[in-house]
Amino acid sequence: MITRHADKDPVDQPHVIVVGGGMVGIATAIWSLHEGNAVTLIDKSAPEDRASYGNAGVLASASVLPVTMPGLLTKLPKMVLSRTEPIFLRWLYLPRIALWATRYLSHANATDVRRISSALFPIVGNSLEDHFALSKGTEAEAFIKPCDFAVLYKDRDTFLKDAFGWKIRSDLGFKWSEHDGANRDSYDPVFNKSLGFLAALAGHGQITDPAGYMEALRKYLVAAGGRILSAEVTNILHENGHATGVMTTDGPVTADRIAITAGAWSPLLTKKLGVKIPVEAETGYHIEFWDPSFVPRVPTLVPSKKLIFSQMKGRLRVAGAVEFGGLKNKGQDKVFELLKAATKDVLPDLTYSKETRWVGHRPAPTDSVPIIDELSTIKGVFLGFGHQHVGLTGSARTGQILAQLISGKRPNIDLTPYSAARFTMRRQQSGPTLNTPQHKETA
Ligand SMILES: Cc1cc2nc3c(=O)[nH]c(=O)nc-3n(C[C@H](O)[C@H](O)[C@H](O)COP(=O)(O)OP(=O)(O)OC[C@H]3O[C@@H](n4cnc5c(N)ncnc54)[C@H](O)[C@@H]3O)c2cc1C
Repeated sequence: MITRHADKDPVDQPHVIVVGGGMVGIATAIWSLHEGNAVTLIDKSAPEDRASYGNAGVLASASVLPVTMPGLLTKLPKMVLSRTEPIFLRWLYLPRIALWATRYLSHANATDVRRISSALFPIVGNSLEDHFALSKGTEAEAFIKPCDFAVLYKDRDTFLKDAFGWKIRSDLGFKWSEHDGANRDSYDPVFNKSLGFLAALAGHGQITDPAGYMEALRKYLVAAGGRILSAEVTNILHENGHATGVMTTDGPVTADRIAITAGAWSPLLTKKLGVKIPVEAETGYHIEFWDPSFVPRVPTLVPSKKLIFSQMKGRLRVAGAVEFGGLKNKGQDKVFELLKAATKDVLPDLTYSKETRWVGHRPAPTDSVPIIDELSTIKGVFLGFGHQHVGLTGSARTGQILAQLISGKRPNIDLTPYSAARFTMRRQQSGPTLNTPQHKETA
């Protein structure tokens, strides 16, 4: 049943434009509609161009650990030079990314990892329920499957080498069961016997087809009174310090409030408003194996390969890898070959009818914490992006928080860690002011 939330007189309704129709944008649009606003979602591209289209589909609440774990700095040179490690750099892009990378790597220490995990937890920690709340009563609900999230290691000793991260998860209240030897086989027999230890995190979930889930949510948005436009937003319009609308490739659209939820493209828009936010495109890959002879019982992360193996409708999706090469990076064959070789290692007996390939750009801030904020320089401009590896997981909660901010409500969460001003403190003295954070980037 469709509920129409626009119960205010349309003349009195604030008009909200949401820029970017990935998972964060759709969630923001739906929750803004629930808050009684008129909503227009504007997106420039085909569904498959979104990171939200091709991700591993895991509602990965326990993925509160950043890529920048302690020890990364010493391992990194070997990793980017190796042909078998899943981290890649397009060397021609190095001058463009050098400053960002310096700031990013400065967070690879225990104190920052703990701070990042504490900041991510309120956004991703209750993801399964957040997604059920977002999709309640819609066709999208059927795409959510509660399940464990498994992490697969060579053996218990290898698992224990990651004790620092597992302790953080435990401190945040995550629970898991441990399976080795015959127990690992009885939990899930499909994997190579050489991967003999599995930790199964309880209370997680999966979106069984991220593209189908988004399409069902878009359908609901329109049926409930929202509008979707296909165009590129080229600028945010404002007068006397207040948002007045957006300029698009099809002309201007007026609005009272604008949410920038354009994933890895978002900094291109904030830059035009004088606000530089260090978010890079972190390209990820997937290969789908169609009509697979078997699939893992639950989505399974193999940390040694930096890959997740997930069952999707009629196919097995193997997703992951990290590559820095900017928004124009279309991926390269050697990374796909690495994914295939890793799949052969992890699932040696797998057979399938065909494979399909995809790349997408995760929005990666230097400190791995998303930006959820309102600009104080231009009232009515809201920011919701930078969810790096956990944007599907954190989208429903982010959309709810942003919709509350947009509607002038105070969300019941301390928003300090997500402030845009943490990146702009030094510029703040002479330039535009933003909401003041308690933490700021030290790099
Ligand atoms: C291989 C891989 C596996 C992943 N696995 C997981 C996982 O299992 N679980 C998880 O939680 N996360 C996962 N992620 C991360 C997750 O997919 C992203 O964090 C998330 O999709 C980001 O969503 P978004 O809405 O911010 O951006 P996007 O989905 O990229 O959407 C942004 C949209 O904005 C549009 N846009 C940009 N600029 C403009 C403009 N100027 N005008 C109009 N439209 C514009 C773009 O066209 C795009 O449609 C994975 C990512 C990858 C790459």
